[in-house]
Order: sequence, then C-alpha cells, then structure tokens
Amino acid sequence: SYNFNAGPAALPLEVLKQAQEQFVDYNGIGMSIMEVSHRSKEYEQINDETQQLMSELLGLPAGYKVLFITGGASTQFTMIPMNLLTAGKTGSYIMTGAWAEKAYQEAQLVGEVSISASSREGGLLNMPAIADIKAPSNSAYVHITSNETISGTQFNDFPNTGEIPLIADMSSDILSRQIDASKFAMIYAGAQKNLGPSGVTVVIVREDLLKNEPKNLPTMLRYSTHLKNNSLYNTPPVYSVYMVNLVLKWIKANGGLAGIEAKNREKTALIYNTIDNSNGFYEGMVEKADRSLMNITFKLQSEELEKQFLKEAAASSFVGLAGHRSIGHLRASTYNAVPYESCKALAEFMQQFQSKLS
Ligand code: PLP
Repeated sequence: SYNFNAGPAALPLEVLKQAQEQFVDYNGIGMSIMEVSHRSKEYEQINDETQQLMSELLGLPAGYKVLFITGGASTQFTMIPMNLLTAGKTGSYIMTGAWAEKAYQEAQLVGEVSISASSREGGLLNMPAIADIKAPSNSAYVHITSNETISGTQFNDFPNTGEIPLIADMSSDILSRQIDASKFAMIYAGAQKNLGPSGVTVVIVREDLLKNEPKNLPTMLRYSTHLKNNSLYNTPPVYSVYMVNLVLKWIKANGGLAGIEAKNREKTALIYNTIDNSNGFYEGMVEKADRSLMNITFKLQSEELEKQFLKEAAASSFVGLAGHRSIGHLRASTYNAVPYESCKALAEFMQQFQSKLS
C-alpha cells in the first residue's frame, strides 16, 4: 500500500527489513536488542552512535547535547516551561496552529506566557512573517512550531532571536531539510514521523540553556537528569532508539539532509503541481509560500466528493489521506520515508479521479 499516514508514519522499507533481520539476533549476540541490559556495551554503543549521527546530520556546533526522553513531544510542552520559565520571565509562543496552541496552553499552567506572533488572522493557514516575530525582552525563550502537522503550514526560515533562546518543536519535520541548527537553543521531536517508532522523543539542547534550572523539579522532568546520565537515568525505550539509529544511518546513506531535502521537494512538487494544475478541482488549503513539505492539505468542491475520493483512494491502496478530524478535508503526509513512487502514484490517481469526473 501507499502509506500517507500523518503519524505514526511510514518507515523506510530498507530499515524495516534490516530490523527484521536483526529481530531475534542482534549482531550475533544470540538475542534481540530488546532483551539486553541498557547498561550493556551493545546498547551503550547504539545510544552514543545515535547521538553522534543526529549531531552530524544536523551539523550541531560544540556545546549541544542530544537526549532521548520518553513521554512524547507533549511532555516537552510541560518540561520546557518547568525547566526554563523562571520568575519574572515570560514564555513567548508563536501561535501557528493546533500544536503551537497545545504547547502554549501547557506553559500557561506553569508560568507567564505571551504570544509574540500569530497566524490566527489568516485562519492558521499561513505562517507569520519572520520580521513580525518580536518577543518581549524578558522572554525566557521563544517557542516556534516549525511545521504544523494538521493544517500543513511550515516555516521556510527562522527568526534570529539574539540573546533569547529559540526553541523549536520539529516533531513533524525534523531532518527533512537543511537548517541552520545554531539558530536554536533547543530542538525537540517525537520520533514517530521522521525518526522512527513512537516511544522516544529526541531533545537537542545547548547546555548553557540549563544553567538556571530550578532545584525543586521532579527528577524525571529535569533536563539535567537526562543530560548527566547520558539519557540512561532510567530504562530508555531501547527498541525505539535502536530504530532511530537505523533511520539516521539511512538518511546519511541517502545524501544526508541535502539529499533528503531534494527528494522531498521533488516528491511534494508532484502533488502540489497536480493541485495547482487542476483548474480548481483540487484546492490547496494553505498559502503557497507556507506550504509544508511534510503535510499536504487540500480539498475538493464538496464533502461528498471528498468522501468519494477517499473511498476510491482506499480501494487503490492509498492509506491515510483523510484530513485531521479537527479540520477535515484531505491530507497527504509525505515524510522522509514516503517513496517518490508513492507520491507519483498519488498524483496520477488524483489526475485520473479528476478526468473521470469532469
Ligand atoms: N508537535 C507536533 C508538531 C506534532 O505533530 C505532534 C504529533 O502529531 C506532537 C507535537 C505531539 O507529539 P507526541 O504524540 O509525541 O506527544
């Protein structure tokens, strides 16, 4: 089938096959990696190598650490203000959609928050201009959602926030394109879209960010716990990290971020061009300049037609094309692991569906 699920999402077939080969016997040790101690040399090697690969792919400068934490990106919505939003400071949020909203609401439970730019006026179907992002000087950080998974908007550039740390939720577009990682004090992402299976959240943090950490935080919710213990304070999601390791090697073998980005642009062009060349039969939901390379949202002229589209698509083995339940319509998620051939097949299906009906 052609998997366009929004998350958990497609994994590279090569990676799944490799994991299958090693499933009951990891590198000749006579057991699965799931069965060994997380203190074993086998797992420590995976842990360290995965950090290194992440650092290499993102081109992280010195001073950054890669952590593996559980609880999903949603737990980061809480940990960020708990660890960083100290008295007298405000957490500045860029309000771009459902995920930014969740991050903002969580922070509101912890401390003072403000909205430094918003795309609410545009119905959350565009991104605020970078020049309009102006955070108050007492901001503990600026929080940005690089890609809004539900509406299908994506920042194609990021602000320079100067002394104020910039934090990005990259859950749905991490490692999908080249970025200047040095702009960010923290990047986090739940693994289940571009990195591997759910269960692990990757948190990339510039160490100096944690110097004012409050002393009264619960142990597991303190970044320093994970930092000091090399993400081995408690039992980590061993299998998820192992899978992330394989996915990162796959990205490296496919030309790193430059190669992946070029492929993602070719893939999405097939579908966006089909939408744009359809004389209004299909309509892209998002402002063109802010269209996502990961989540393509579009609609047809009626709900009835959309239902028929989904039904016929399902019969042709396309999976995951319904829009998010909160906004409806249609969405094709084209994460790193979705092959070019799947996107080509979808574009052709869309063209055939249109010619049949018009
Ligand atoms: N942030 C973004 C942009 C997402 O797309 C998602 C999940 O879809 C989340 C956060 C929540 O992630 P998790 O399910 O890992 O808590």
